[in-house]
Amino acid sequence: MGAVERGGEFVVTRAEGVHVYDDKGNRYLDATAGLWFANVGHGRRELADAAAEQMTKLAHYSTFGDYVPDVTLQLAERLAGIAPVPGSKIFLTSGGSDSVETAAKIARRYWVEMEQPSRRIIIGRQKAYHGMHYAGTSLGGIPGNTEGYGELIEDQAHVVWDDPEDLRATIERLGADNVAAFFCEPVIGAGGVYPPPEDYLTAVRKICTENEVLFVADEVVTGYGRIGGSWFASTRFGLEPDFVTTAKGLTSGYLPMGAVFVAPKVAELFFAPDAGRWLRHGYTYSGHAAAAAVALANLDLIEQEGLLEDAARLETTLQTRLSPIAEHERVSEVRSGTGALAAVQLTEPSEAAGLAASLRQHGVATRAVGAGGIQISPAFVMTDAQVDELGTAIETALG
Ligand code: PMP
Repeated sequence: MGAVERGGEFVVTRAEGVHVYDDKGNRYLDATAGLWFANVGHGRRELADAAAEQMTKLAHYSTFGDYVPDVTLQLAERLAGIAPVPGSKIFLTSGGSDSVETAAKIARRYWVEMEQPSRRIIIGRQKAYHGMHYAGTSLGGIPGNTEGYGELIEDQAHVVWDDPEDLRATIERLGADNVAAFFCEPVIGAGGVYPPPEDYLTAVRKICTENEVLFVADEVVTGYGRIGGSWFASTRFGLEPDFVTTAKGLTSGYLPMGAVFVAPKVAELFFAPDAGRWLRHGYTYSGHAAAAAVALANLDLIEQEGLLEDAARLETTLQTRLSPIAEHERVSEVRSGTGALAAVQLTEPSEAAGLAASLRQHGVATRAVGAGGIQISPAFVMTDAQVDELGTAIETALG
């Protein structure tokens, strides 16, 4: 909005594959796949056709009460089939922030139903990003995002992003019987692309299990293949989460949609034949029929074109091509090694926005992320030659 107000907006008019075009007809290599979502590339006819066909038949109806569009059921079945924890139930949402709120509410509800209502506190990490709604903003750990609202939710706590012992100490200090859940991005995304330190994820998962704290893997960025080689980071790192929150790559962003995977341990509370409980939670667009059709077509493309393997290929290519850039005096670190995700960290964090602007002049669309990083999260269809082009543009822009 500020850019529009100043007359400095960058107007994007169309996109194809790994390229976006501005209103003057200039072409840019899209280093970020939009906001980490266009995993199958832009302008895929298959997804447009799936949306058009579904909208002509049934754009959406309702998933309240016993209503459900047929295509929504198909998507839920399909997702259950790739769930990191077998037997998971799927709750469909309108996007990542909704997925986070849904998991936070179900986690709280779980403990009420388990007759341990004192377990209310949700723990997040520094550098974390969990969307923009109330609970997600509270749990986030990027200072600019959380400041200026007062305390949004009371029952929350934060730990440092990279030390499992801080989680252990925090749970001990708060009392495990007051802690409901721990939210964890397997790879920190918007906070600056920070892969987990060696053994970090295994250690925090173990601490949660020991203390019966529910483990929520926020895979809005890492899900649906971005981690490389598998559908979810939870699978790659063997996390067996109680919840997996997702969005973005579910539809490659062609229509807005998210999904929460709820492990059987939690879900059965609501689904057992004699449970007698009702989860009174849902959105108008939960399981939106047209979005569900696009999601199914998107998952088909990922499977048919072997894109999980392509994301794994990009892990290697990005690491090989970008790592040497860490030698540049303006660069303090290059982070990579977890799928189609990387960041170039500047020695002087305030220079990141300037570098992103300069990269655009060199034909690359990206943005500053975290505290002084440049975001690299390409579509899985980016070729090795295009990664090389990206590396050269970064080197040129650095000077
Ligand atoms: N969680 C994570 C880890 C995210 O990266 C994001 C979005 N960048 C969200 C939640 C929120 O998703 P949305 O913007 O679709 O609401």
